[in-house]
Amino acid sequence: MLKFDTPIQFVKGVGPKMSQRLKKIGIENIQDLLFYFPRSWDDLSVVTPVNQIKIGNNYNIYAKIVEIGNHRTPKKRMNITTVLAKDKSGGEIKILWFNQPFLTRNFKTCEWWIFSGKIEWDFSTKSKIMVSPTYEKKAAIISIYPETEGVNSKYLRRLASTLIALHLPTPEFLPDDFLKKESLMGLEEAISEIHLPSSIQKLYAAKRRLAFDELFLIILRMMCIKKELAMEKSPQLDTKVQELVKFSNDLPYKLTDAQRKASWEIIKDTARTIPMNRLLEGDVGSGKTVVAAMAALNAIKNEYQVVWMAPTEILANQHFESANKLFKDFDIKISLLTGSQVRVKSKSGKNNIKELKSLAQNSDLIIGTHALIQEGIKFPNLGLVIIDEQHRFGVRQRFALTQTSYSKLTPHFLSMTATPIPRTLALSLYGDLDISVINEMPPGRQKIITQLVDPVNREKAYHFARQEIQKGHQMFVICPLIEIKNKKPDAKSQNLFESERKSVLKEYEKLRKEIFPELNIAYLHGKMKSKEKERIMADFSAKGESASGGKNKKIHILVATSVIEVGIDIPNATLMMIEDADRFGLAQLHQFRGRIGRGKHQSYCLIFTQSLSPETIKRLQILVDCADGFRLAEKDLALRGPGELAGALQHGMPDLKMASLTDIILINLARSVAEKIVGSGLENYPMLVKKLKEFEMENHLE
Ligand code: ADP
Ligand code: MG
Repeated sequence: MLKFDTPIQFVKGVGPKMSQRLKKIGIENIQDLLFYFPRSWDDLSVVTPVNQIKIGNNYNIYAKIVEIGNHRTPKKRMNITTVLAKDKSGGEIKILWFNQPFLTRNFKTCEWWIFSGKIEWDFSTKSKIMVSPTYEKKAAIISIYPETEGVNSKYLRRLASTLIALHLPTPEFLPDDFLKKESLMGLEEAISEIHLPSSIQKLYAAKRRLAFDELFLIILRMMCIKKELAMEKSPQLDTKVQELVKFSNDLPYKLTDAQRKASWEIIKDTARTIPMNRLLEGDVGSGKTVVAAMAALNAIKNEYQVVWMAPTEILANQHFESANKLFKDFDIKISLLTGSQVRVKSKSGKNNIKELKSLAQNSDLIIGTHALIQEGIKFPNLGLVIIDEQHRFGVRQRFALTQTSYSKLTPHFLSMTATPIPRTLALSLYGDLDISVINEMPPGRQKIITQLVDPVNREKAYHFARQEIQKGHQMFVICPLIEIKNKKPDAKSQNLFESERKSVLKEYEKLRKEIFPELNIAYLHGKMKSKEKERIMADFSAKGESASGGKNKKIHILVATSVIEVGIDIPNATLMMIEDADRFGLAQLHQFRGRIGRGKHQSYCLIFTQSLSPETIKRLQILVDCADGFRLAEKDLALRGPGELAGALQHGMPDLKMASLTDIILINLARSVAEKIVGSGLENYPMLVKKLKEFEMENHLE
């Protein structure tokens, strides 16, 4: 008998070939298929009279077949099936399909069908035609799925309907009384209605139930983690006031109040025996690094180890350099561990990798990329984990790292991000997850002057850049591509050929040979060897002479891809040119811009685009007008609509198919149901416990 976990290939009409294709879209068993939700729905009961249809739009029409025919085009030898149809309005339309001669068998004259498709203009007969429409006998609400090669909506719909008709036992995990009380549709009905809606109202109810489930499971999972964590013990760290004061006195600047407050919150939190789970939010350049460094210092002076993870190797390298500077008077052993290298501060000469790893393992501060987890190194005495540039909640990282520790204690956890999640949203979704916000910029920062440069002014922009560089400043040039492959024109790029796009290598050559032959220019992209990247970054950040020992070869201009997107801190770089800026999202552009304006000098961000679309210009104008990352995110949201919020929040957010993060009412409902269930003991709901386990396996709420 078929069950939810039966592999999809055993369903009638699937077979090995289709199951291979379905696997590509994540469908391996019956459950996967039933939870492969439509992307949209088309209500076929909304039809347009044929005499009112216009060229270029999609319509549903309800019309009677007058004529059916097949013929071959003489030149291209294509088979064309044509149907002439007429509706009550008296309008007549020719409908065409290509290379599907068997279609004629589906239709008979005098039959009424619903056709849905696009209306085009036929130059030869000078009349409107409908091209390759879908056709249905009955007016239904038709689900449209995300398709893939060889798997279309019609197929998925048929498969779903076969399975739904079998009434397989559905693992309803919500108790009946909750469903009734909150007017939530039962799971079996919801699955059926989402694929084969019987009415718009039912479709809405089904969406509501499935959206509820997504939110509910996230919230419930977070509550359980919270509860589990509360039962664990973590190191209780004393506040090492003397060391902290010394640290802050040694800084070349005064901490802002917001930085002080955030570090105080964090240090206070680590003084408890319950593991800290804290998110540090602050706009690009607000100075999060030093706040985390204080927490690290405090943990280390309590004789615990600290692991500090960065999303890229370049950033890990930079943190290694700055940690060495920040802690130079503190007798702290720091090591760097990335996928490709191990470095330890102490001059260790020609150590082999193995030895270096054990050195790293015995360091006080271990900085690295996420490879740190994969390396399988045990840290004997881990007290604090810091994750930079990601608002993850560290559930998995913490778990993985705790597994590596000999100690029975669970480390405290801090993640840092410049991506704003509205506090209220984070709170309702994640409960009392602790958030510290740095809502103030270090003093003396000048607003970065941002300008959208008209292509005719490009020469002027270069002239301006030259002047700035002559004053001793440096410049980033950001391009969306590494190099241009000889490709077919890209349909999405609005008729602009790929070869006209800016690439790092081409731009590098152009700047070096034609524009700034007198300056030193380097390039950087993700495909380069780590050593190479590291050398370039070191040379670019070295103010006077080359860090790698070259002859005073200071780099003036760095042409780079988005590899420099996050974290990089080079205060002497005051200029940035962003090429083909329309290729990037606003949040990402803001991150790029955050690479400059980090010192006391006036900085300039010059944006270029080859796009002429008014929407693009409007979007880029937001970046010009708005310097505050949080407000920028809001404006971006207003422009794109709430559906995009989940996308804007990106990393670390669970994948929501049905739910919207802006649906606060549903979030709150999910929260209150979760609270009740946890309150009365989750163990009383075995189906739910099972579902939650499944959910954990599928979604790493990192
Ligand atoms: P982000 O929050 O983007 O990670 P960083 O921690 O990299 O920002 O800090 C950005 C720059 O600001 C660094 O050069 C840092 O030395 C400097 N900085 C941090 N705090 C202050 C402060 N209170 N006053 C002046 N400069 C500061
Ligand atoms: Mg940072």
